[in-house]
Amino acid sequence: MDTQCCVVGGGPAGMMLGYLLARAGVQTVVLEKHADFLRDFRGDTVHPSTLRIMDELGLLDAFLQRPHQRLQTLAGWFGSERVELADFRNLPARYNFIAMMPQWEFLDFLAGHASRLPAFRLEMRATATELVVGDGGRISGVRGSGPDGAFELRAECTVGCDGRHSTVRAAADLAVEDVGAPIDVLWFRVKRDATREDTSLARVAPGHFVVTIDRGDYWQCALVVSKGGAEALQRGPIEVLHAQVVEAAPLLASHIAEVRSWDDVKLLTVCVDRLRHWSKPGLLCIGDAAHAMSPVGGVGINSRSRTRWPPPTCSPSSSAPAASPRPTSTPCAGAGSGRPRRRRRSRSRSRTTSSCPC
Ligand SMILES: Cc1cc2nc3c(=O)[nH]c(=O)nc-3n(C[C@H](O)[C@H](O)[C@H](O)COP(=O)(O)OP(=O)(O)OC[C@H]3O[C@@H](n4cnc5c(N)ncnc54)[C@H](O)[C@@H]3O)c2cc1C
Repeated sequence: MDTQCCVVGGGPAGMMLGYLLARAGVQTVVLEKHADFLRDFRGDTVHPSTLRIMDELGLLDAFLQRPHQRLQTLAGWFGSERVELADFRNLPARYNFIAMMPQWEFLDFLAGHASRLPAFRLEMRATATELVVGDGGRISGVRGSGPDGAFELRAECTVGCDGRHSTVRAAADLAVEDVGAPIDVLWFRVKRDATREDTSLARVAPGHFVVTIDRGDYWQCALVVSKGGAEALQRGPIEVLHAQVVEAAPLLASHIAEVRSWDDVKLLTVCVDRLRHWSKPGLLCIGDAAHAMSPVGGVGINSRSRTRWPPPTCSPSSSAPAASPRPTSTPCAGAGSGRPRRRRRSRSRSRTTSSCPC
């Protein structure tokens, strides 16, 4: 075997998993098809539950050195009425806020810390295209293409963290159950006047729902549209979007014209789905590859960072103090049934667990 664990995809799920495994001394290779983490807007919200995990890992202080804004309360306007939606101030002071941090900062931070671990390797511009199937149908790695051409990476365990259009899950022929979503979302930026005080997140008017995320000198905005409605909207002039946005969010009126064309607007096709079985022998899918979530509540990054694998029998403690320089355990022991375990809840946290497929 070339490595113990091959993680396909360097998003929140893959980078966090790669870091945790390498920290426990499991030889891990993360394959990421892009050259860097800078991409279209992919969500900003790092919730208190994720900050708490960063704290448990001893990373929180360094993490919060990265540029971010803090939200201790969430509010929304419903017509002319302002409603408090959430208040995090009763949580422990170290993480009693949402950190609004671009996803590339989050990923770059994890990559930086993971790269200090001897068991970790990150391969950028490496795209997995198919699975290596070994004896008895067991998955034993991936084939793909990278900067130096085609490659084959053999691994005791392969984890698909390659997002909602996962190549891994398709190659493994894992059945996807489409739960359905009634909305799509159009994302765009609008300049923010520094003097504006109202940082409410949601602005609702009859027929229009706008999200305004305070990013300091600009608003990261979302217009929620009905499923499939974006195409019809985008066939018209951009001024139609301007009018709908301003109706729900009048404070954007002075700068909305700076969204000049549909090129400035990114469509998030919302999908909510899940795999019936997350695993096969030698293979596991987690994150959006296993269950793409609704953007409502902005918990995608957080749930992906907290998807916990391997299960306690073969995983490191989240408070493991340091990486072992050599592998201390194999990630693959025993055969999993492939069905996700039920979500376990406690008063302080809930985590999704999956059975080990290996
Ligand atoms: C426009 C938009 C806005 C969002 N807003 C929010 C928000 O505000 N808050 C929030 O919490 N969540 C938000 N989300 C959701 C959040 O981004 C996802 O839930 C989260 O990123 C999922 O993490 P993941 O690691 O499972 O998958 P992804 O983030 O999709 O990462 C998958 C990674 O795999 C790589 N990859 C794909 N295929 C291959 C391959 N074959 N080989 C190698 N690499 C591959 C991709 O390049 C990518 O880096 C948003 C999503 C979008 C699209």
